[in-house]
Amino acid sequence: MKCAPFDYVRAASVDEVIRTLVGANGEGKILAGGQSLVPVLALRMARPSVLVDINRIPGLGTVTRDGSDVQVGTLTRHSVLAEQIHHPLLAEAARWIGHTAIRSRGTAGGSIAHADPSAELPVVAVGTGATVTMAGPGGTRSLPAGELFVSALTTSLAEDEMITSVRFPVPSRWGFAEFARRHGDFALVIAVVAEIEDSVRIALGGVGAIPVRAAAAEQVLANGGTAREAAAAASNEISPTADLHGSAPFRRAMAAEMVRRALAQAGVN
Ligand SMILES: Cc1cc2nc3c(=O)[nH]c(=O)nc-3n(C[C@H](O)[C@H](O)[C@H](O)COP(=O)(O)OP(=O)(O)OC[C@H]3O[C@@H](n4cnc5c(N)ncnc54)[C@H](O)[C@@H]3O)c2cc1C
Repeated sequence: MKCAPFDYVRAASVDEVIRTLVGANGEGKILAGGQSLVPVLALRMARPSVLVDINRIPGLGTVTRDGSDVQVGTLTRHSVLAEQIHHPLLAEAARWIGHTAIRSRGTAGGSIAHADPSAELPVVAVGTGATVTMAGPGGTRSLPAGELFVSALTTSLAEDEMITSVRFPVPSRWGFAEFARRHGDFALVIAVVAEIEDSVRIALGGVGAIPVRAAAAEQVLANGGTAREAAAAASNEISPTADLHGSAPFRRAMAAEMVRRALAQAGVN
């Protein structure tokens, strides 16, 4: 199938993106790396009247250390995230995204905005307590990543808003574990462990419509419980649904194992 016809605007600035989106009255779409949007267009699951290409806007593809955080510009390619040294957890997560071609085009902001329940970066964002900054007609605003994801492929971004950057706290200890059927496939289950300001946060992906915090598992650790007890608690507190790739009990078991591995990598016993 081919895309339905659309107008194409190559924006030179964030202001131009917002103006174009406002003018499109909800019918505009931002084009970043195109790795998720283009298949959606080709399948005619979306029919925007205008595509706003943000790839030529300067200054949106940098990764910078800022105190205890790392600021990631929206156009930062997954391959750049995988190579940077400021945030080792982000680098590890980015290495698990798809294949080389996808990592060289796909962007951090695009992944967060697309909100795929099996994507790596949204789980790291929730796991570390990242803050997403977006521009819109009323100026800029920031939101904790945990408040951005609404359901599968849906965020609380307005139709005329654009993510400009994501600020990820750098954990003092971290772990990342993923189970996928083949290298490069979307994850079946992802576990992220991040120690931020002396408390251990645990987030899971692939076990629901959005990334989830394993709050009960975190509490087990805070109360002096073991990693194995925390992994069991994580498995009990989630409500995965069965699909083509696995039953709910299978995902529960994988979640326990991924949490156990991520905690071990973080040195939490
Ligand atoms: C074969 C294949 C395998 C893949 N495997 C994985 C995988 O294992 N893990 C994974 O995480 N991803 C995977 N992906 C998806 C890939 O990571 C995409 O790059 C990512 O999901 C979207 O980023 P993008 O820059 O390509 O965004 P685009 O495809 O350009 O856009 C995606 C959506 O986000 C919106 N958008 C983009 N940028 C912004 C912004 N700045 N502000 C607001 N909205 C915006 C677009 O309008 C669109 O709705 C895979 C893709 C393919 C084709």
